[in-house]
Amino acid sequence: MSVIVEEEAVIKEKVIPSKAIGIDLGVKDLVITSDYEKYDNNKIFAKYEKKLKRLQRELARREKGGKNYNKTKLKIAKLHEKIKNTRKHYLNKIANKIVLENDIIVTENLKVKEMSKNKRLAKYILDASFSKLCSLLEWKSKLQGKFYYKIDTYYPSSQICSYCGQQDASLKDLSIREYKCQSCGRELDRDINASINILFEGLKLRYQN
Ligand SMILES: [Zn+2]
Repeated sequence: MSVIVEEEAVIKEKVIPSKAIGIDLGVKDLVITSDYEKYDNNKIFAKYEKKLKRLQRELARREKGGKNYNKTKLKIAKLHEKIKNTRKHYLNKIANKIVLENDIIVTENLKVKEMSKNKRLAKYILDASFSKLCSLLEWKSKLQGKFYYKIDTYYPSSQICSYCGQQDASLKDLSIREYKCQSCGRELDRDINASINILFEGLKLRYQN
């Protein structure tokens, strides 16, 4: 049984911002921040995916409409529900922490279309997680009087050196984990570098317009 609780939304007055954060969204790590923090793409989902595949194979073997068929079908529905709840809990935890600790929060605008081509469950969960997390950040920021910005989808956050600002347009290989600047020589984790650039771009949106 589920109980729907109507939350009274109390929107706090806007804060005077003193702490800002940029957030890069990724595959291996779901969230990478300009504070050098990473939140992994919950391994639980890989476990669930395996279990789901096993159940789907089981369902295929059952006689359609039979007692066992319906039993397996119910198990699959319950598992989907469990995945949904686990994901919801995890994303809320991340969003709460980020909004509590920061006043200005910046993410990319999602490249969901590009990412949704792959129909695998893990991929689907990931896409859904990105958009869910962004809407949580937006909503919680609003409630807490914080500021949430989304930067342009085509901003090349992975190609720019967050230290000297030089752009290296030849950088396209996503398997290279380290950003090495050809101009100033600085080396930094690729995703952390991207999240710092996202932060700077978000601050431009706020202060240059
Ligand atoms: Zn550089």
